[in-house]
Amino acid sequence: TKTLRLILGDQLNSNHSWYKQIDTNITYIMLEVMQEQAYVMHHVQKILAFFGAMRNFAYQLQKKGHQVIYIKLDDEHNQQDFEKNLQRIIEQQQITRFEYQLPDEYRLDEQLKSICQKLAIETAYADTEHFLTERFDVKNFFGDKKRYLMENFYRYMREKLHILMQGDEPVGDRWNFDADNRKKYDGKVPLEEPIQYHHDVSELKALVDQMGVKYFGNVDAANLEWPLSRQEALKSLDYFCEHLLPHFGTYEDAMLQDHISLFHSRMSFAQNSKLISPAEVVSRVLIYYNQHQDEISLAQVEGYIRQVVGWREFMRGVYWAQMPGYEEKNFFNHQTPLPHWFWDGKTRMNCLNKCIGQSLNHAWAHHIQRLMVIGNFALLAGLHPDEVDAWYLGVYVDAIQWVEITNTRGMSQFADGGFIASKPYVATAAYINKMSDYCKHCHYDYKTKHGERACPYNSLYWNFFDRNAEKLQGNPRIGMAYLTLKKMKPDEKQKIMEQAESYLDRLNEL
Ligand code: SF4
Repeated sequence: TKTLRLILGDQLNSNHSWYKQIDTNITYIMLEVMQEQAYVMHHVQKILAFFGAMRNFAYQLQKKGHQVIYIKLDDEHNQQDFEKNLQRIIEQQQITRFEYQLPDEYRLDEQLKSICQKLAIETAYADTEHFLTERFDVKNFFGDKKRYLMENFYRYMREKLHILMQGDEPVGDRWNFDADNRKKYDGKVPLEEPIQYHHDVSELKALVDQMGVKYFGNVDAANLEWPLSRQEALKSLDYFCEHLLPHFGTYEDAMLQDHISLFHSRMSFAQNSKLISPAEVVSRVLIYYNQHQDEISLAQVEGYIRQVVGWREFMRGVYWAQMPGYEEKNFFNHQTPLPHWFWDGKTRMNCLNKCIGQSLNHAWAHHIQRLMVIGNFALLAGLHPDEVDAWYLGVYVDAIQWVEITNTRGMSQFADGGFIASKPYVATAAYINKMSDYCKHCHYDYKTKHGERACPYNSLYWNFFDRNAEKLQGNPRIGMAYLTLKKMKPDEKQKIMEQAESYLDRLNEL
């Protein structure tokens, strides 16, 4: 047999069993194709990071002695989609067997199944050997439950993998240290700079431009900051353990206008492209914690482990339990297009100006910026989840549909009607002011609900609950909001609603 094995751009797992042996009858193929640039408009850093990491990966495989065909975006024979390129190579190289690793995106999963059906040769697939769970583990865990609760799954994972466990009990007698991990940055410990790389990807950028790839966002192509190899991913992980983990949990929800990442690891690109596995991340973090228990509290570590072992695996499982169909959910029937400032950051709302500005400059923002500033506003303003999804999927360097759609459409926009979130993640300026320094520097007044400079979040918050009363007021977790609305003096309520309407009418001018 002459085998061709396809490696997708987010399957850069060099520890995969595929690569254990060098076999001259096996050829690996990696493709840069316009198909993957067109399903959504990407941030330029995302395109460059994926191409850069793919090229490194191919080079490393070749160096080890594997045979690799790497088709660049401007290769004269590039057919620009997977199917035509694969057919051409299979014919040309007289391939008798085709293999691929299970894609993490439904779209590609369907495409590869269909390609295999059409091919006249033997075909097979393998697991990516990356995640801690299988595609349908989450679905099987919850069975026919109407709602999936992450916390239940997380505890099951902790027990199953014996992570932070003492016998059957969680270390520290608590599963969850979330309550300790909600502090505003108080300057008590010095901030650390995020680890940044300085890849010169000017040539790649020129290629992307020459090929007419449509993109958005900003880049300094002489200094692309993302880890593009396994070695760099491991270096980022060590940097995280040493410099950031000691305060990760405490400040994981905090935001600062002059510091993009506080104590976040920014390992999401390395993990989602599979340069590094969750098992490695967890094991390194736990080893480091065990060696430095005098400097690092359990709350820091548990907070991080929950993101990797809990949320990340959970979201992937939700994706496979819900696809297809999840990408069309729109529980509130929101229809408003994105205001222009999603694309240029130019709004007087300082929190959005900074969070969107940062996203456009760095292709990255941390989860509270994504969820409680940008997503919060999108939900309050009734922006169409299709447009919100496309923006999130495009803008973030780590965004692949399995992780993006579940976090954005599900968790953040509540478009699934509460399948994964027990209540909508909405908040007024009080929350943003509590967790950040944005409000201090804002054109708007975070304390007022109506009036010329009233913060838009405040009136839109009450407008959101008021306009969605039919859908939400039966939810016991948001009873307080409806009680407050009910108790509001009618003229006060009217002023708030009028303020909200006036903002909704001119979102582009905010
Ligand atoms: Fe954002 Fe309102 Fe605070 Fe301004 S006042 S930074 S718009 S929350």
